[in-house]
Amino acid sequence: MLELQVINNIQELVQKRAQFTSQSIGLVPTMGYLHEGHLSLVRKARADNDIVIVSIFVNPAQFGPKEDLDNYPSDIPNDLKKLKKLGVDVVFIPTANEMYPPGFSTFVNPKGHVATEAEGAKRPGHFEGMATIVLKLFQLVQPTNAYFGQKDVQQAIIVANLIKDLHLAVNLNVMPTIREKDGLAMSSRNKYLTLKTRKSATILYKALQKGKEVFEENLNKESTIVYLSMVQSFSMEHDVKPDYIEIRHPITFAVLSKLTAPALLLVAAKVGKARLIDNFYLQENNEWNTGVIL
Ligand code: AMP
Repeated sequence: MLELQVINNIQELVQKRAQFTSQSIGLVPTMGYLHEGHLSLVRKARADNDIVIVSIFVNPAQFGPKEDLDNYPSDIPNDLKKLKKLGVDVVFIPTANEMYPPGFSTFVNPKGHVATEAEGAKRPGHFEGMATIVLKLFQLVQPTNAYFGQKDVQQAIIVANLIKDLHLAVNLNVMPTIREKDGLAMSSRNKYLTLKTRKSATILYKALQKGKEVFEENLNKESTIVYLSMVQSFSMEHDVKPDYIEIRHPITFAVLSKLTAPALLLVAAKVGKARLIDNFYLQENNEWNTGVIL
C-alpha cells in the first residue's frame, strides 16, 4: 500500500482489515502526541510486518476522575506527518463515542499484584480501562504482532497476561524505553514540564541509576538498601514528590525482599503538573535493560 489511510470508524476499519487476508499485521496502540518512543515501536512494526496499523485514542476509560484526560496533549496533523514518513499503512483515530457507545457495559478486569499494586494502586481503574481498550483493538485489528514500550512495564505485563489468559493469537513485542539525552524517559506528558521542572524531572532517571549501582554492589542482600538509596536521591530534588519507589519481580510483581535477578526498579513521581513514571529492568541473565539514550 502506498498511501497512509486515516480511519475514524469501526466499520471502515473492519472492512479494511478484511482486505489483508494473508499479510502479517503489526499494531501499535498509542494515545498520540507522538515522540521518538512511539516511533521506535512503529519502526519495529514496519520492519517486522507487511501492514502497519497505528491507533491514536485517548481512552477515557483509563483515566481517573482527577486525572489529565481533558488536558492530554494532542497534535494529530503532526502525528500523521510522522507516521506517513515511516510508511505506516493505516491510522485508526476513533472518537470516544465510537469505542464506547451508549449501553457499553463489558470491561476486562485484570487481577493480581501487577494490576492492583504500584500504578494499579495509585490509579484505580486504569488497568481495567487499558486492558479493555487493548482487547477491543486486538479484536478489531487481529494483529499478528503488537508493540508496547518497556516504559509502561506494568501495562506490558498486563497485556502479556491478557494474551495468555484469553488465548489471543497475538505476538507481544516489548521495546526498550527511549530517553532524552539527559536520561529522562520520553513521554507525551513531558509537555506539562516547564523549563524549571524539566530539569528536576531527570531525578527519576538519576534515582534509578543510583538504585542500579547500589543493587549491583549488594547482590543477595536485603533490598531495603536500594530502596533507601533511591529515597535519598529523590530527597535532593525538592520540586519532585515521589509517588512510589519499588523493587519487584517482573513476572509475579511481588515485592522483592532480596536483591536478586530478575527485578524491576519502579518509580513514579509528581513533577510540577506532570506525573511521570520510569523503570529499570534487571533481566534473568543479570543484564540491565535501562532503555536507549537518543
Ligand atoms: P502512550 O501514547 O503513552 O499510551 O504510549 C503508547 C505506547 O508507546 C505504549 O506502549 C508505551 O509504553 C510506548 N511508549 C511511551 N513512551 C515510550 C518511550 N519513551 N520509549 C518506548 N516506548 C514508549
